[in-house]
Amino acid sequence: MRKYGIKADKRLGQHFLVDQKPLLSMITAAELSPEDEVMEIGPGLGILTLQLCANAKRVVTVEKDRQLIPVLENMTRDFKNICILEEDVLKLNMENVSENLFQGRFKVIANLPYYITSPIIMKIIECRRWISLAVLMVQREVAQRLVAHPGTKDYGILSIAVQMYADVEMVSIIDQDSFLPPPKVKSAVVKIMLRQNPRVELEDESMFFKVVEAAFGERRKTLKNSLKRRLCFPGITSDTLDRVLDETGIEPMRRGETLSIEEYVKLTKALKKYMID
Ligand code: SAM
Repeated sequence: MRKYGIKADKRLGQHFLVDQKPLLSMITAAELSPEDEVMEIGPGLGILTLQLCANAKRVVTVEKDRQLIPVLENMTRDFKNICILEEDVLKLNMENVSENLFQGRFKVIANLPYYITSPIIMKIIECRRWISLAVLMVQREVAQRLVAHPGTKDYGILSIAVQMYADVEMVSIIDQDSFLPPPKVKSAVVKIMLRQNPRVELEDESMFFKVVEAAFGERRKTLKNSLKRRLCFPGITSDTLDRVLDETGIEPMRRGETLSIEEYVKLTKALKKYMID
């Protein structure tokens, strides 16, 4: 950073890796082969990028901060298998990138900028037809939410949205001093193996997520009360809700955070039968 006269921009979530252990952990989790094509989000000064270039067939990096681009070009000058994009990853057209820069499904490997962790993860989930695997450094609390089971305090909409379309593994916990400047919280490496089809067959995805959102809308209320207050579908009255909960055998006094993905799908299907088009 001194060599290039660069100061870390905290607004862009710049916490650069300065430790080999997390790098190794990410590279091992990604199970890279010389045939792999990889996208790195936020390459920064290129410490992870160099490892990726040495271990994969092709590497496309997406960096928003213009001042880092010349550093990255210089760092990776010995490699011919890299393409550096100066872009905001949230605005990136993944379909275009997939068609023009990759030959097959690619892996995403990144030490994420934490201020946009959830939108990036949701983008990866939405773009799963082009992505096979994501190995991500995230805040430890986010990692805990990603792998959380029903009935635990970390289980929420993010857990359901990601686990519906992926198998998620916690790989390792990383201390703050592995980064410069150190972030305020601990980090974790997670491995997200994307599924082509959802975990449970879904007829109406948008309705499913509305039901989940309504159920989690009031965390301290019972499922029945949360749904009654928040669910707004034509034809679904308080009485229909009672009937649906009875039909599905889901105890109305449970709380939203205790329901599994399978139970939410069952609930959505049952509700749909009573909905008026
Ligand atoms: N990969 C480097 C490392 O491990 O040392 C840097 C990781 S740092 C936590 C996050 C990186 O994401 C920074 O380089 C930052 O400039 C970049 N970044 C922030 N917002 C971004 C965005 N919207 N699109 C692409 N890159 C972004």
